Amino acid sequence: MVDFRRLEDVDVANKRVLVRVDFNVPCDDEGNVTDNTRLAAALPTINYLRKHKAKIILISHFGRPGGQRETSASMMKLIKPLSGLLKTNVAFAPDCIGKTADTAVAALQAGDVLLLENTRFHKGETHTRTGGKGYEPKFAAALAAHGEIFVHDAFSVAHRAQGSTSGIAASLPAYAGLAMERELDHLSQALDIPKRPVMGLVGGAKVSSKIDLLKNLVGRLDTLAIGGGMANTFLAALGHGVGASLCEHDLRDTALEIMDNAKKANCQILLPVDVVAAKEFKAGAQHRVCGLDDVAEDEMILDAGPQTVNKLADAIDASKTLIWNGPLGAFELVPFDTATVEAAKYAAKQVKNNGLIAVAGGGDTVSALKHAGAADGFTFISTAGGAFLEWMEGKALPGVEILKK
Ligand code: AMP
Repeated sequence: MVDFRRLEDVDVANKRVLVRVDFNVPCDDEGNVTDNTRLAAALPTINYLRKHKAKIILISHFGRPGGQRETSASMMKLIKPLSGLLKTNVAFAPDCIGKTADTAVAALQAGDVLLLENTRFHKGETHTRTGGKGYEPKFAAALAAHGEIFVHDAFSVAHRAQGSTSGIAASLPAYAGLAMERELDHLSQALDIPKRPVMGLVGGAKVSSKIDLLKNLVGRLDTLAIGGGMANTFLAALGHGVGASLCEHDLRDTALEIMDNAKKANCQILLPVDVVAAKEFKAGAQHRVCGLDDVAEDEMILDAGPQTVNKLADAIDASKTLIWNGPLGAFELVPFDTATVEAAKYAAKQVKNNGLIAVAGGGDTVSALKHAGAADGFTFISTAGGAFLEWMEGKALPGVEILKK
């Protein structure tokens, strides 16, 4: 269980509170926000701080301007939608450090909200001798000087030690914002102190991008279901023909080692028992359900079959907690979304009917579950991609370490 400092632990009244949010929102070519999920995610913390009379200074990165000023990466365009969501005027400073930022911070009254310009307009945010993995202490100190308290509310960047995260925490006391707190509490509940039995469902394209994750999970779960393209690598390692499927044949030994480790740790591995195969990788391609040893040389496995979905449903029934990352097939191409959609709907149903705790996250997972219409039925869906995966890998996240008591 992560024991971290929360907002309730600190008196913020009349204090300058620097809040790291993730306002890296999708925008169209004219700079209009096309999905305000991330702005909305920051509202509980901002409203809490306003209610408790803090002087609120918001900081975030946007895009990858690489330490240069870039008009298209300015945070200015967020002032209007953010002011609308908060129902108050949000002030803006055209730089995150220096004179303009200092003046804007000095003008803040209790309950005011100020958004500073993109932190990535400065090289010091990410650029150091460590190859972009750290930050420039001088830049971080200039940012930290704006505040008296630091609130980290961007779990999506918790796997990075940057100027606007770990850098600020080097000189200010750091607390989790309410969105961060929700993430940490749910993720902790799913993997650190889960109600057992706990099942993982990991799909997606390749084993190579999830080796560490699979290795960590087999030591912690009771059941691990593997789906998607990565299941092909496991099936091939077990001697099944996978035809022209996406498959990392060179990872045969890794797949066998993961299965061996699972056996030693008493983690049951579930692989597809039937598959959906097609000759073309496109929506609506002619396809058939077949057994594992029936895939032709020119066929690709693009989804798990119905018997597999039934087995997954049985495994979900036998579990009290489910952690899901990655689709079970090429879900963007109908009808190869079928297994993902059915398993996701089943999990959502069990959350409602049987009190299953179902937590999901990581890149394509959110769009796959939304596509299935099951996202709202999950107990919790992480907003993070890389940070969620690194958490599943069992790594210490720098953005979480700074919050620990
Ligand atoms: P990832 O980013 O690793 O979670 O992978 C997600 C991608 O894996 C999606 O774009 C899916 O279309 C793809 N995928 C899943 N299963 C398969 C499969 N059997 N063959 C090819 N691509 C797949």
